[in-house]
Amino acid sequence: MLTISTLTDQDIQHLNDQVLMDKSAKDVLTWSYETFGDELVYSCSLGAEGMVLLDLIEQVHPGANVIFLDTGLHFKETYALLNDVRERFSTLNIKALLPENTVEEQKEKYGDRLWARNPDQCCAMRKFEPLQKELSKYTAWISGLRRAQSPTRAHTPFIGKDHRFSLLKICPLIHWTQDEVWDYIYKNNLPYNPLHEENYPSIGCAPCTAKVLDGGDERAGRWSGMEKTECGLHWPAESEREDEV
Ligand code: SF4
Repeated sequence: MLTISTLTDQDIQHLNDQVLMDKSAKDVLTWSYETFGDELVYSCSLGAEGMVLLDLIEQVHPGANVIFLDTGLHFKETYALLNDVRERFSTLNIKALLPENTVEEQKEKYGDRLWARNPDQCCAMRKFEPLQKELSKYTAWISGLRRAQSPTRAHTPFIGKDHRFSLLKICPLIHWTQDEVWDYIYKNNLPYNPLHEENYPSIGCAPCTAKVLDGGDERAGRWSGMEKTECGLHWPAESEREDEV
């Protein structure tokens, strides 16, 4: 079994440069499920890329494990989409991960609107910790990151070592453009979050997601007005950060 411990950096480079380089997203997923089977999990945020990946994963590996981070702070449209997704992709095993504290308990313990005062702490408790606990059961995870989404994602490889969560990370959509994602959604009549049609290209928790005006990058509406740009789930490990600048 390939794991973060058994693969050297040269092995990872070989996989990216030789084995996976010219493969389509579906072919990358096929290789991934043939290699890792049910040791592989997809963490889906229910964004547009998520709809594409759910559709491809269901074709490649019915019964695949999928997780959604239910922070308790999503838009009502996102929760409605979760129901639609469960119906549409009924063969997939979709599990919603809850944080230790409800929103009300967090308010009692840490004060009101923690996301506005300390979003890193809020993300750590509502996203990072539940995800870390769940990912510890797996060898590899799938993410819908695309290189064109933002400068911090511009060098994302098909497969890499995710030292933060101690497993391998596979990103089948790295070369897709936003237009290609939407062409796939329309062509296959997939469900999607209606907020995308109201200038929300990237949708996270309601308190931390704003509309994007013309000219902003796809993730400009996330933590708008704050220095924060990522929730911390997809930062590269320290040893990889210089490649990201
Ligand atoms: S995105 Fe905002 S509300 Fe959601 S967990 Fe992070 S800081 Fe909290």
